Amino acid sequence: MDIVATETLTLGRIERRRAVDDVHASIREAILSRRFYPGMRLNVDELAEQLGVSLTPVRSAIQLLAAEGLVDVHSRSGSFVATLSRRDLAETFDIRCALECLAAENGIVGITDEAIQNARKQLAILAKPVRTPLQRQAHEQANSELHQIIIDSSGNKRLADMYDSLQAHIAMGRLHNADESWQLRLEQEQAEHEEIVEAMARRDSDGLVSALRSHIMRAKSVLLERMAE
Ligand SMILES: [Zn+2]
Repeated sequence: MDIVATETLTLGRIERRRAVDDVHASIREAILSRRFYPGMRLNVDELAEQLGVSLTPVRSAIQLLAAEGLVDVHSRSGSFVATLSRRDLAETFDIRCALECLAAENGIVGITDEAIQNARKQLAILAKPVRTPLQRQAHEQANSELHQIIIDSSGNKRLADMYDSLQAHIAMGRLHNADESWQLRLEQEQAEHEEIVEAMARRDSDGLVSALRSHIMRAKSVLLERMAE
C-alpha cells in the first residue's frame, strides 16, 4: 500500500467516526434528559432523517449506547431506550461504591493540596441553595466532580475507565430523584460530603472509605425506595 492510499483511508475513517460520535451524543442526551423515555422504540430511519445522516452512523451509535446500557437491542423487535430495573441500579451502585473505596484506599495518602482545594470548592458549590433546574444542574455537576477527584487520586486508569462506564446508569438513576423529597435530603447529603472532604484533607483513607460507603449506600437505598413507589 502506498502513502497516498493510506492517507485517504485514514481521513475516511475519521469522518465516519465523527458522524457516529455526534449521533451518539445527541441520542444519549435525549435519553438522559428523558426526552426519549424508558421503553421508547428507537426507529433508525426516523432518527437518520431527523439528524440528517445516513443509517450507518445511527446503527453504530445505537450499538455504542447498548454497550453503555442505555439501549436494549432485541434482534426481532428492534431497539428500545433501556428500562433500568432496581437490580440494575443496585448492581451499579455496589460497583460504584467498591471503585470509589478502592481509589480512596490507594490514592488518598498521596493526594495533592490542589486536589483538596478543588474538593473544597465543589463542597462550597454543593452548599448553595437548589431551586431552579440550572442550580440543580450545577449541583449534580459539583457532586460528580467531587467523587471524580477521589477516582483521579488513585492514578489508576483502568479503575477510572470502569468508573466512567457506570456514569450513564448513575445519571439515569438520578432521574428518579427529580422530586421535592430530594430537597429534604440535601442537608444530609451535605453533611456526608463534608465528612468525605474532611477525611480527604486528613489523608485518612479508613475515614474516607467509611464516609464514602455510608454516603453511596444511603443514596442507593433512597433510589431503590423511589423506584419501588
Ligand atoms: Zn455525593
